Parts: sequence; structure tokens; C-alpha cells
Amino acid sequence: MPAKSKLGQNFLRDAQAIARIAAALGDLSGRTVLEIGPGHGAITDALTARAAHVTAVEVDHELATLLRVRFAAEKLTVVEQDVLQFDFTAAAAATGERLRVAGNLPYYITSPILLHLAEHHAALELAVLMVQREVADRVCAEPGSRDYGLLSVTVQMYGPVEKLMTLPPGAFSPPPEVHSTVFRWRFAPRFAELDVEEASFLRLARQAFAQKRKTLANNLRAAGYSPATVTAALAHAQIDAQARAETLPLESFAALWRCLQAGAATATGDAAAPAC
Ligand code: SAM
Repeated sequence: MPAKSKLGQNFLRDAQAIARIAAALGDLSGRTVLEIGPGHGAITDALTARAAHVTAVEVDHELATLLRVRFAAEKLTVVEQDVLQFDFTAAAAATGERLRVAGNLPYYITSPILLHLAEHHAALELAVLMVQREVADRVCAEPGSRDYGLLSVTVQMYGPVEKLMTLPPGAFSPPPEVHSTVFRWRFAPRFAELDVEEASFLRLARQAFAQKRKTLANNLRAAGYSPATVTAALAHAQIDAQARAETLPLESFAALWRCLQAGAATATGDAAAPAC
């Protein structure tokens, strides 16, 4: 069956990499694992050998049909669905535990999948994901590095990430045009610890990174904050007035969020303003 490039079908054929992906999920005995995009079942095979059960979400009808023939129903449930519509929260509730997730992701929707997982973070324990190398570089980047940006801040606010291995195009059939990197993401959201509110913090991060060449202060002013509010919030958060968002660790973003909230609350006479 020819691979469908529009579905990001580059099938992994490196046995060592498959074994390492399965091992990176930890002890799976007695557990249900969730796999995104099982394809022909290369990773699925290793997962079914280690876990009590695998639930695999595959959008391609022909592949889903082949998988149901290849694997016993007691070991594998194939959900024929777009993973972006898949309800991880309901799946975790059905198993009674937070899920471990594996996937050699379809690269054309990598960011939407990462954001979808973040949305369901409470249902998830960890994920071991293969993505395009450049995306893994951005996800795992440290503040001040070339690759640090909105994707790094967003993903890392939901828990620590670490790169595990990088594979050349030849590890896949058909080979993609890019290298691929596997990273592990442990879900441990930092919003409560950093005393920020999730939705408005992520909005601030989007505003801060809106234009890469602008300073943080300019991006905030462009987002509608008054110059005085921006100057005061940066000073209180101990952030250089000329700083760019690319240099700020999560703790500084959180301090900035708190100071902007405190400034807004003071301006409106709200006594319940958060400490800045
Ligand atoms: N896991 C297999 C492997 O490593 O050989 C296949 C990985 S391949 C890179 C990506 C898989 O995701 C394909 O099987 C593709 O059909 C499936 N896929 C593409 N878009 C999808 C979507 N929106 N929802 C679920 N699966 C999708």
C-alpha cells in the first residue's frame, strides 16, 4: 500500500529506535498506553509486548483495518479518528489512571497535537513523541538560545521536556526530507506553582513573542498595554526595559504576568490584586 504523504506517513523501520521509544515510557506492565498514528504498527508491536493494552488513534481507514487484522482485540483497540478530535480525558477516565502516550507524529499537525495534549494535561502522565528535529529543538530550547520561543514556553509550562535521540531520514520508509527527534514530556503543569492563571498567562506569552525583532516592551505596547503600565511592570518584575521575550525564563514571564495583573488591579481599585 503506497504511503500517503498528505497524512505524514513515514514509517519507522529502525528496530533499535522502536525499542528505545517503548523503553522510554517506563514500566508498562498492567497499563494501557495510548498511541498516536500507529501506521502499520511498528511501535504498536513493541508497546503491546510491554503493556496490558494499547489504544491507538489512526485516521487512515485502510491502516486501521490492517491493524485490526494484525493485532488481537484483547491487546489493541484501534480508534479510527483524527487525533485532534480524540478525547484523552475520557480515555484516561475509562482506564482509571493518567495515560502514557507514544507517537511518531504526523509532522503536518505536530503543533496542534502538542497543544491538544496540553489541553488534556490533567489526563496525561508522560508522552514520548517523535517530531521533526527542528520542532524538538524549539520545544526543548533554553531561554536565550536561538530556538527559544512561544512553543518552548507553552510546552514547558505543562512540564519538563528532554530530547532522547535523533534519527536520520533513512530510518524511515519512505524517508522524510528532515531529521527526526524523539523527546519525552512529563506532564507537571507549573501554573499553580508560579501563581499564574493558565489562559491569560498563555495569552501574555503569545503577545510577548508576537514579533521576534521587537523588544518585549514594544510587543506589549503593540498588544494594547499603556507605556506606563509596561514600564512599571517590567521594573517590578526586574526585567530589563530592553529585554526580548527570547531571553526570559518561565519564572520571569510569571513575574511579569503577576505585575501586569497587579498593575491592572491597582488601576481599577481591586483590593484582591495578586502580589507582584
Ligand atoms: N507509528 C507509525 C510508525 O512509526 O511507523 C506511523 C507514523 S507516521 C509518521 C504518522 C501516522 O499518523 C500515519 O499512520 C498516519 O496515517 C497517521 N495520521 C496522520 N494524520 C492523523 C490524524 N489527524 N489523526 C490520527 N492519525 C493520523
